[in-house]
Formats: sequence, structure tokens, C-alpha cells
Amino acid sequence: MRAEVILMKCPEARKIYGVRTEERNGDWFRTWAFKISERTAANEGFDKALIRGNLYADDEYNGCPYCKAVTFVQCGRCGKLSCWNSEERMTCGWCGLTGNTKRLEDEIDVKAGEL
Ligand SMILES: [Zn+2]
Ligand SMILES: [Zn+2]
Repeated sequence: MRAEVILMKCPEARKIYGVRTEERNGDWFRTWAFKISERTAANEGFDKALIRGNLYADDEYNGCPYCKAVTFVQCGRCGKLSCWNSEERMTCGWCGLTGNTKRLEDEIDVKAGEL
């Protein structure tokens, strides 16, 4: 079984967090989110993780450690992932782009970091 840790950013807390994902039959499932510092994430190489395919939340997934969001959006500009709490407009936690939300859980390429 392949497992990777990807990074997401919480626009409310303005902090990153790690999300453990594992591959099951070609799809990826988010199983656990945890607080992490940018320095630790870079040291662990989590900012280099690359996964491809659907990215679902496991039933056990605990959500963002800051705002509890389970769903996420992928930024149309930088391609990174941020929490999404059903707002109609979102702000990317990474690059600050504000725009309409496009909820994405299907067929994404996640380049999960570049701190
Ligand atoms: Zn959050
Ligand atoms: Zn962005």
C-alpha cells in the first residue's frame, strides 16, 4: 500500500497542515490530518509529495485541525489545496487568489507543497 503525506492550508488559521493519504485500488483516501510546521514539513519532504487520481475523505478522516473542514478546493492558479467550508467565494490559503469555488475531489494532480 502506498501512503503519502500531502500538505493543505487553512485560510482561516493561515497555517499548513499535513494530511496522510493512502492508495486503495487506484484512488486516494485522506485518513488523518495533523498540525505540522512548515519547517518540519520541508524536512520530511512532504512538500514534494505528488499524488494523482481521486482524493476522497475516509470515513474516519478527522478534518482540518483548525477549522474542521473535510472538503477542500484546489486553487486554479497555484494548484494547491485549501480548506473549504462551503463558501461561494474562496481565498487560496497559499497564493491569496480569490475566486469562485470549484470543488474538486475528482481526478486531480496534487503537487502538495513547495513551501
Ligand atoms: Zn481549515
Ligand atoms: Zn493559490
